[in-house]
Amino acid sequence: MARRRFIPGRRIVRREGLERPHASGQWTEARFRDFIMNALRAARWGPKYECITKAFVRRGPSPTSGKPCMLHLCAKCENLFPKGKMQADHIVPVIGPEGFVDWNTAVARMFVEVDGYQALCIECHQLVTNMARFRLTEQQALDYRKVINFSKLSTVRQNQILLDHDCPRLHMSNASRRRAAYQHLLREGSFEGLTGAPEGTSVHAVEQPDPEGQ
Ligand SMILES: [Zn+2]
Repeated sequence: MARRRFIPGRRIVRREGLERPHASGQWTEARFRDFIMNALRAARWGPKYECITKAFVRRGPSPTSGKPCMLHLCAKCENLFPKGKMQADHIVPVIGPEGFVDWNTAVARMFVEVDGYQALCIECHQLVTNMARFRLTEQQALDYRKVINFSKLSTVRQNQILLDHDCPRLHMSNASRRRAAYQHLLREGSFEGLTGAPEGTSVHAVEQPDPEGQ
C-alpha cells in the first residue's frame, strides 16, 4: 500500500553521481527548484491574504485560548479559527500530481486571483497538500498525519502507546521501528490514533519530501 516516499522521517541521503549544476556544484536541479519555489511562496501576494479575510465569519472566543478574536471558516472541516490558524490553499495545486511542468506554469498557478484560493485551517491545509503531493487518499493522508504526530512524541510516550496496544518489546528499539509499529496499529483499524498535533508543535513541521525524488 505504501509508496516508497510515504515514510515519515526517512533520512535524506546525499546521492552520488547526480549532476549538481547550482550553488558552486552543491545543488541538484531539484534542490535549486525547491529553493526558487520557496522564495516564490514567501512572496506577499495580496489575493492570498484577501482569501483569508473573506473567510471571516464573526468575532468570538478562540477555540484554543478562549480569548476574543476574529473567527474564520475553514472550507474543509467547517470549524472556526482565529486568523493566525488559517492559510490560503491553492485550489489547483502549484505542483500537481504530474510533477513540475515548467516555471511559467508554476508562476501562473502560484499567483492566482482570490477565487483560485480556499481558506483552510492549518491542519486541513496540511492534509490536502499531502494528498496532492504524495497522491494519497484522504484516509492515507490522515494516517500520515497521525504517524507524524506520533513521531513528535517523546520516546517514553511512544513506547507507552505501543505497549498499551500490546505491541511486543521487539519494536521499541528505534524510532523507525516504533513508527512502523504505530502504522501497523493504524492499519489494523482497531486504533483511532493521534488526530491532533501534540502540544507545542506545528503540523507544518513535518519532514520535507525527498527533493531529489521529484
Ligand atoms: Zn479545517
